[in-house]
Amino acid sequence: MTSEIISSKELSKADPVFGQNSFDDHEQIVFCHDKDTGLKAIIGIHSTVLGPALGGTRMWDYKNEWEALNDVLRLSRGMTFKSAITGLNLGGGKAVIMGDAKTEKTPELMRRFGEFVHSLSGKYITAEDVGMETEDMDTVREVTPYVTGISQNKGGAGNPSPITAYGVFMGMKAAAKFKFGSDVLEDKNVLVQGIGNVGEALVEHLSNEGANVTISDINQERLEEVSSKYGVKIYNGDEIFSKPMDIYAPCALGATINDDTIYKLQAKIIAGAANNQLADENKHGRLLQERGIVYAPDFLINAGGIINVYAELENYDRQEIMRKTENIYNTTLEILDNAKANDLTTHEAAFGIAQERIETRKRENSK
Ligand code: NAD
Repeated sequence: MTSEIISSKELSKADPVFGQNSFDDHEQIVFCHDKDTGLKAIIGIHSTVLGPALGGTRMWDYKNEWEALNDVLRLSRGMTFKSAITGLNLGGGKAVIMGDAKTEKTPELMRRFGEFVHSLSGKYITAEDVGMETEDMDTVREVTPYVTGISQNKGGAGNPSPITAYGVFMGMKAAAKFKFGSDVLEDKNVLVQGIGNVGEALVEHLSNEGANVTISDINQERLEEVSSKYGVKIYNGDEIFSKPMDIYAPCALGATINDDTIYKLQAKIIAGAANNQLADENKHGRLLQERGIVYAPDFLINAGGIINVYAELENYDRQEIMRKTENIYNTTLEILDNAKANDLTTHEAAFGIAQERIETRKRENSK
């Protein structure tokens, strides 16, 4: 009856969760609140077809609940396809905690969050993401076993970021091989946006290879620290996308490839760690293809971190982690070749393979 008397715009307001554009048949969305610690969190479980939904927890000072919900819906969906394309027996999940990680994160809040994770009995397994450190995962571990990325001295695989950065580096080299005919990054102009845990480790790989690296971040202190440590340049302008560059490596937050930036972008390759780099996967994927910009799909090349935390569940050793992460090079090259041969966007090519794996498992499970 309501649908007859209110407009479709109002209807989407009336359907605050399942009606969101970012909602994509997620299995479960859990809103968590604790007055005493000030915890406000959302856990998104997109799919458990391939296994338990594993994905990090992000703490961010979201403008409002819509922004937080949108983020967790997009991120958890991305995890499903990341694990699927990497060949891991994991589903996709993610959690967001609303608040400033620098001022509002406390051990009590993390423990309370851990209790909510525990209440899902292993259907969701957490790890670190933006705003989280290995110590926070150790705190969560005090109340639940359903957490990965804990300290090595506590039996975990430690901070996944260096492995993520290594995988991104491999994916970037594969994209360079595809675009320039050589995977050597020496003298290539690379802009790394966001020099946090992953960004800094990527800067190190690039510097070691002799790339011409420029960094950008909203944190001036970090910029100066990383710049002096690796001798790289700082970008201080406000037209970052118009800057001539060979490779753009988004390592901050998602959706930096959007209607505003896509026509300005001067890069020949996009290869970075951030999740959900394309604001609209189909539209912006197609526009990049038309502009001849090679996009190394984010969920494919930033999988090093999930490989690292998966090792905690499967007892892989370091060698196996590195081998699987290095293989991102081969998979990326295959996907880029496949996209070209079939006139697909690189996102479509990667997504298609991931989706096929999920559909096959679904069929097997229903037998
Ligand atoms: P981090 O919090 O350590 O670093 C993020 C950095 O980005 C910070 O230095 C921050 O100041 C900067 N930043 C934020 N907004 C910015 C902006 N508008 N412009 C420039 N810089 C900005 O996070 P991280 O662990 O390094 O992760 C980086 C990205 O990679 C995230 O999108 C994360 O989801 C993704 N990712 C991380 C991992 C991992 O193993 N840590 C794995 C897969 C994907």
